[in-house]
Amino acid sequence: MDFENSLAFAKAQDKKDELGLYRSQFLFPKKNNKEFIYLCGNSLGLQPKVASEVIKSQLDSWADFAVEGWFEGDAPWMFYHKELKRLMAPIVGALPTEVCPMNTLTINLHLLLVSFYQPKGTKFKIIMEGGAFPSDQYAIESQVKFHGFDPNNAIIEVFPREGEETLRTEDIVAKIEANGDEIALVLFGGINYYTGQWYDMETITKAGHKVGAIVGWDLAHAAGNVPVQLHDWGVDFACWCSYKYQNAGPGGIGAIFVHEKHFENNNLNRFAGWWGYQEKKRFKMEKGFIPDDGADGWQVSCTQVIPMALYHASLQIFESAGFLKKLRLKSINLTGYLEFIINQINIILEVEQFKIITPRESESRGAQLSIIANKNGKQIFDDLVLNHILGDWREPNVIRLSPIPLYNSFEDIYLTGLALLDISKKALNKN
Ligand SMILES: *Cc1c(COP(=O)(O)O)cnc(C)c1O
Repeated sequence: MDFENSLAFAKAQDKKDELGLYRSQFLFPKKNNKEFIYLCGNSLGLQPKVASEVIKSQLDSWADFAVEGWFEGDAPWMFYHKELKRLMAPIVGALPTEVCPMNTLTINLHLLLVSFYQPKGTKFKIIMEGGAFPSDQYAIESQVKFHGFDPNNAIIEVFPREGEETLRTEDIVAKIEANGDEIALVLFGGINYYTGQWYDMETITKAGHKVGAIVGWDLAHAAGNVPVQLHDWGVDFACWCSYKYQNAGPGGIGAIFVHEKHFENNNLNRFAGWWGYQEKKRFKMEKGFIPDDGADGWQVSCTQVIPMALYHASLQIFESAGFLKKLRLKSINLTGYLEFIINQINIILEVEQFKIITPRESESRGAQLSIIANKNGKQIFDDLVLNHILGDWREPNVIRLSPIPLYNSFEDIYLTGLALLDISKKALNKN
């Protein structure tokens, strides 16, 4: 798409946008009665307007049926997760049997590591991206300690080359190959939270399997953002949250993927609970854990109905908008427009006022651009907020802006550029 830095161009794009009507299905934050331009859906997606209705309807079921709600009503709680499995599967390129909503993200990561981090002899190391999201770092560190290893020895981190901000696939693959005999598990974030880099998941998964390692992905920043094909790529396991790109609310329900090739493996450790027990016999309350079929066998506690109802509502929006094709196409154009607008600012100001560290190619990024200001990044970010534009700030020096195809417009991007230019001019004059 050829872009132009003008309001007329942005408005014309919005007029043509068949997904534009979804914007009205979301609630935007306000201050002094003025709505924000919201570019922070990578951190917390906006509330769909149906959310309160959906919660109200579950409260009604609880009121009307009480304990019988598990088996009665339009959508009995006992089987409530099944419809979510159907809706979630296409979001991550999985079979419905391979996915299940449960718990929250880091908890699920731990549960999956219990099953899939199986160090044996000298093959005990985990390879991951340097600068992974802290929760993942802590989870892995504590897991290797739990197995009696020293994190300094058992965790291999891959860092960008000197002077570069993102990882080269060839360097990741080379590191996996060089340490192949020692690697038990390859675990990366699908998209790095800081740089916005979408790793070449298929190639990395293949490289891990070639050295006999298990390969897992944390898709916190990828699920609902970019099209991933977990099943076809042969990924062993994955987990994600629903509150970032999937708009299911703060602390929303998490989800897991386990490839069907592992379904018949009885040697996997699990931290079990009654809700992961064979559904048909769950209420026989018998001794001796027998896992339910597929990903459902990793459930521990009973269904969190209200968070699941929110995720369900949000997944229905994705289904209706057409996730894989239409949303992604708009996302590529919106993010491309933001990149174009930021580069225009540099051209107008005749300095590299903003450097984008996120990769330029659309196959290496999703909706997020990570931007480093030449100077006074935090001040520029704060000024953006004063201008009613909400992205987020990540220490030490990145402004993250994420145009979300479900509810952002080209006009949002144009106006953000206008504000950034204005703020930058003032900042430069001051210096
Ligand atoms: C957001 C995020 C988390 C958050 O985990 P919770 O358990 O939901 O708090 C974990 N890992 C990654 C990579 C994230 O981006």
